[in-house]
Amino acid sequence: MNKCFNLEKRSKNSKARAGKLILPHGEVETPIFMPVGTTGTIKACTWEQIKELDYKLILGNTYHLYLRPGKEVLDHFNGLHNFTTWDRNILTDSGGFQVFSLSDFRKVTDEGVIFASVIDGSKHYFTPESVIQFENTIGSDIMMPLDECTPIPIDYDIAKKAMNRTFNWLIRSKKEWEEKVLNSNKMHYLFGIIQGNRYFDLRKLSAIKTTELDLPGYAIGGLSVGEDKQTMYDIIEFLDDLIPLEKPRYLMGVGKPEDILEAVARGVDMLDCIFPTRAGRNGSFFTKYGQKSIKNMSYKFSEQPLDSECNCYACKNFTSSYIRHLFRSGEITAMTLLSIHNLAFLKRLTENIRVAILEDRFEVFKNDFLNSYHQKESEY
Ligand SMILES: [Zn+2]
Repeated sequence: MNKCFNLEKRSKNSKARAGKLILPHGEVETPIFMPVGTTGTIKACTWEQIKELDYKLILGNTYHLYLRPGKEVLDHFNGLHNFTTWDRNILTDSGGFQVFSLSDFRKVTDEGVIFASVIDGSKHYFTPESVIQFENTIGSDIMMPLDECTPIPIDYDIAKKAMNRTFNWLIRSKKEWEEKVLNSNKMHYLFGIIQGNRYFDLRKLSAIKTTELDLPGYAIGGLSVGEDKQTMYDIIEFLDDLIPLEKPRYLMGVGKPEDILEAVARGVDMLDCIFPTRAGRNGSFFTKYGQKSIKNMSYKFSEQPLDSECNCYACKNFTSSYIRHLFRSGEITAMTLLSIHNLAFLKRLTENIRVAILEDRFEVFKNDFLNSYHQKESEY
């Protein structure tokens, strides 16, 4: 009931791990990056394009899906898989992050949170129970419980209160999950979220209490919210010993190539972020030599693909010059091509990381990648 992960290999010289998630809509090899489909689509991409990239697990946002299309429509279509036709796995966040970051108005009590819709200002109420019920309506393969996110930096007492509230909400979420999901013989998994802001004693307490609940997996929440990178890496590393080895670890909201490598090196199995697709829509793309902008003059006459080592649809078929022209002309196809490329880049990166872990050469792979990624192409 509680097991959705097989740990296959732990790197000899770091905390990096390779494993496999066994989920209702198929198996997923880890480490994995999950593209974010905020409102039931990966922006600017079709499902066929996402499948061609071989993604098997994407993210949906509970907050946005709750506001639109809403429960009635998802009930009518018997869940998000059927509604969207995406027939692979979906992980849903709890909506907590959006409630605390997007809404102009919110009122948090121990019972739940009242917030104003980002769409029309209407008032809504989330409780740990109602969020699990809605994620059950979505049909999420992995459900995240309602949590209280705090920005970094913030006072210790506020961080402690939010951490305790997150834990109390988790106990209620687990009860609702057991009653509404597991009792209907659905094998959809609930993860616990570890909070505690930048305070190591709070992180430790949160990790100990959360993992005692013996849930199918654990997420590290409340990072990438204003702290410097080293603080984020230190907290992830600190938590590695506190989370049971056999459970999957999900770092929420992180997805730059260098951060994926650093997080995996510290024991993370799963990551998600809007960054790769948002960067694509804004004209940025990943290459072996770092992140580039298609707006750059150097691509004006370029007959080369975005990345000569990439075999994605954009790189197989089009020159950088043509994609630059599309982007400068405001053609939406440019956003599609750059999003596909960035997702292809991260898929290939995580596949290569996995093979390197299995072959006990992850640390060399990581150093080679980062040396190249932070170096200018002309220096190579
Ligand atoms: Zn490409």
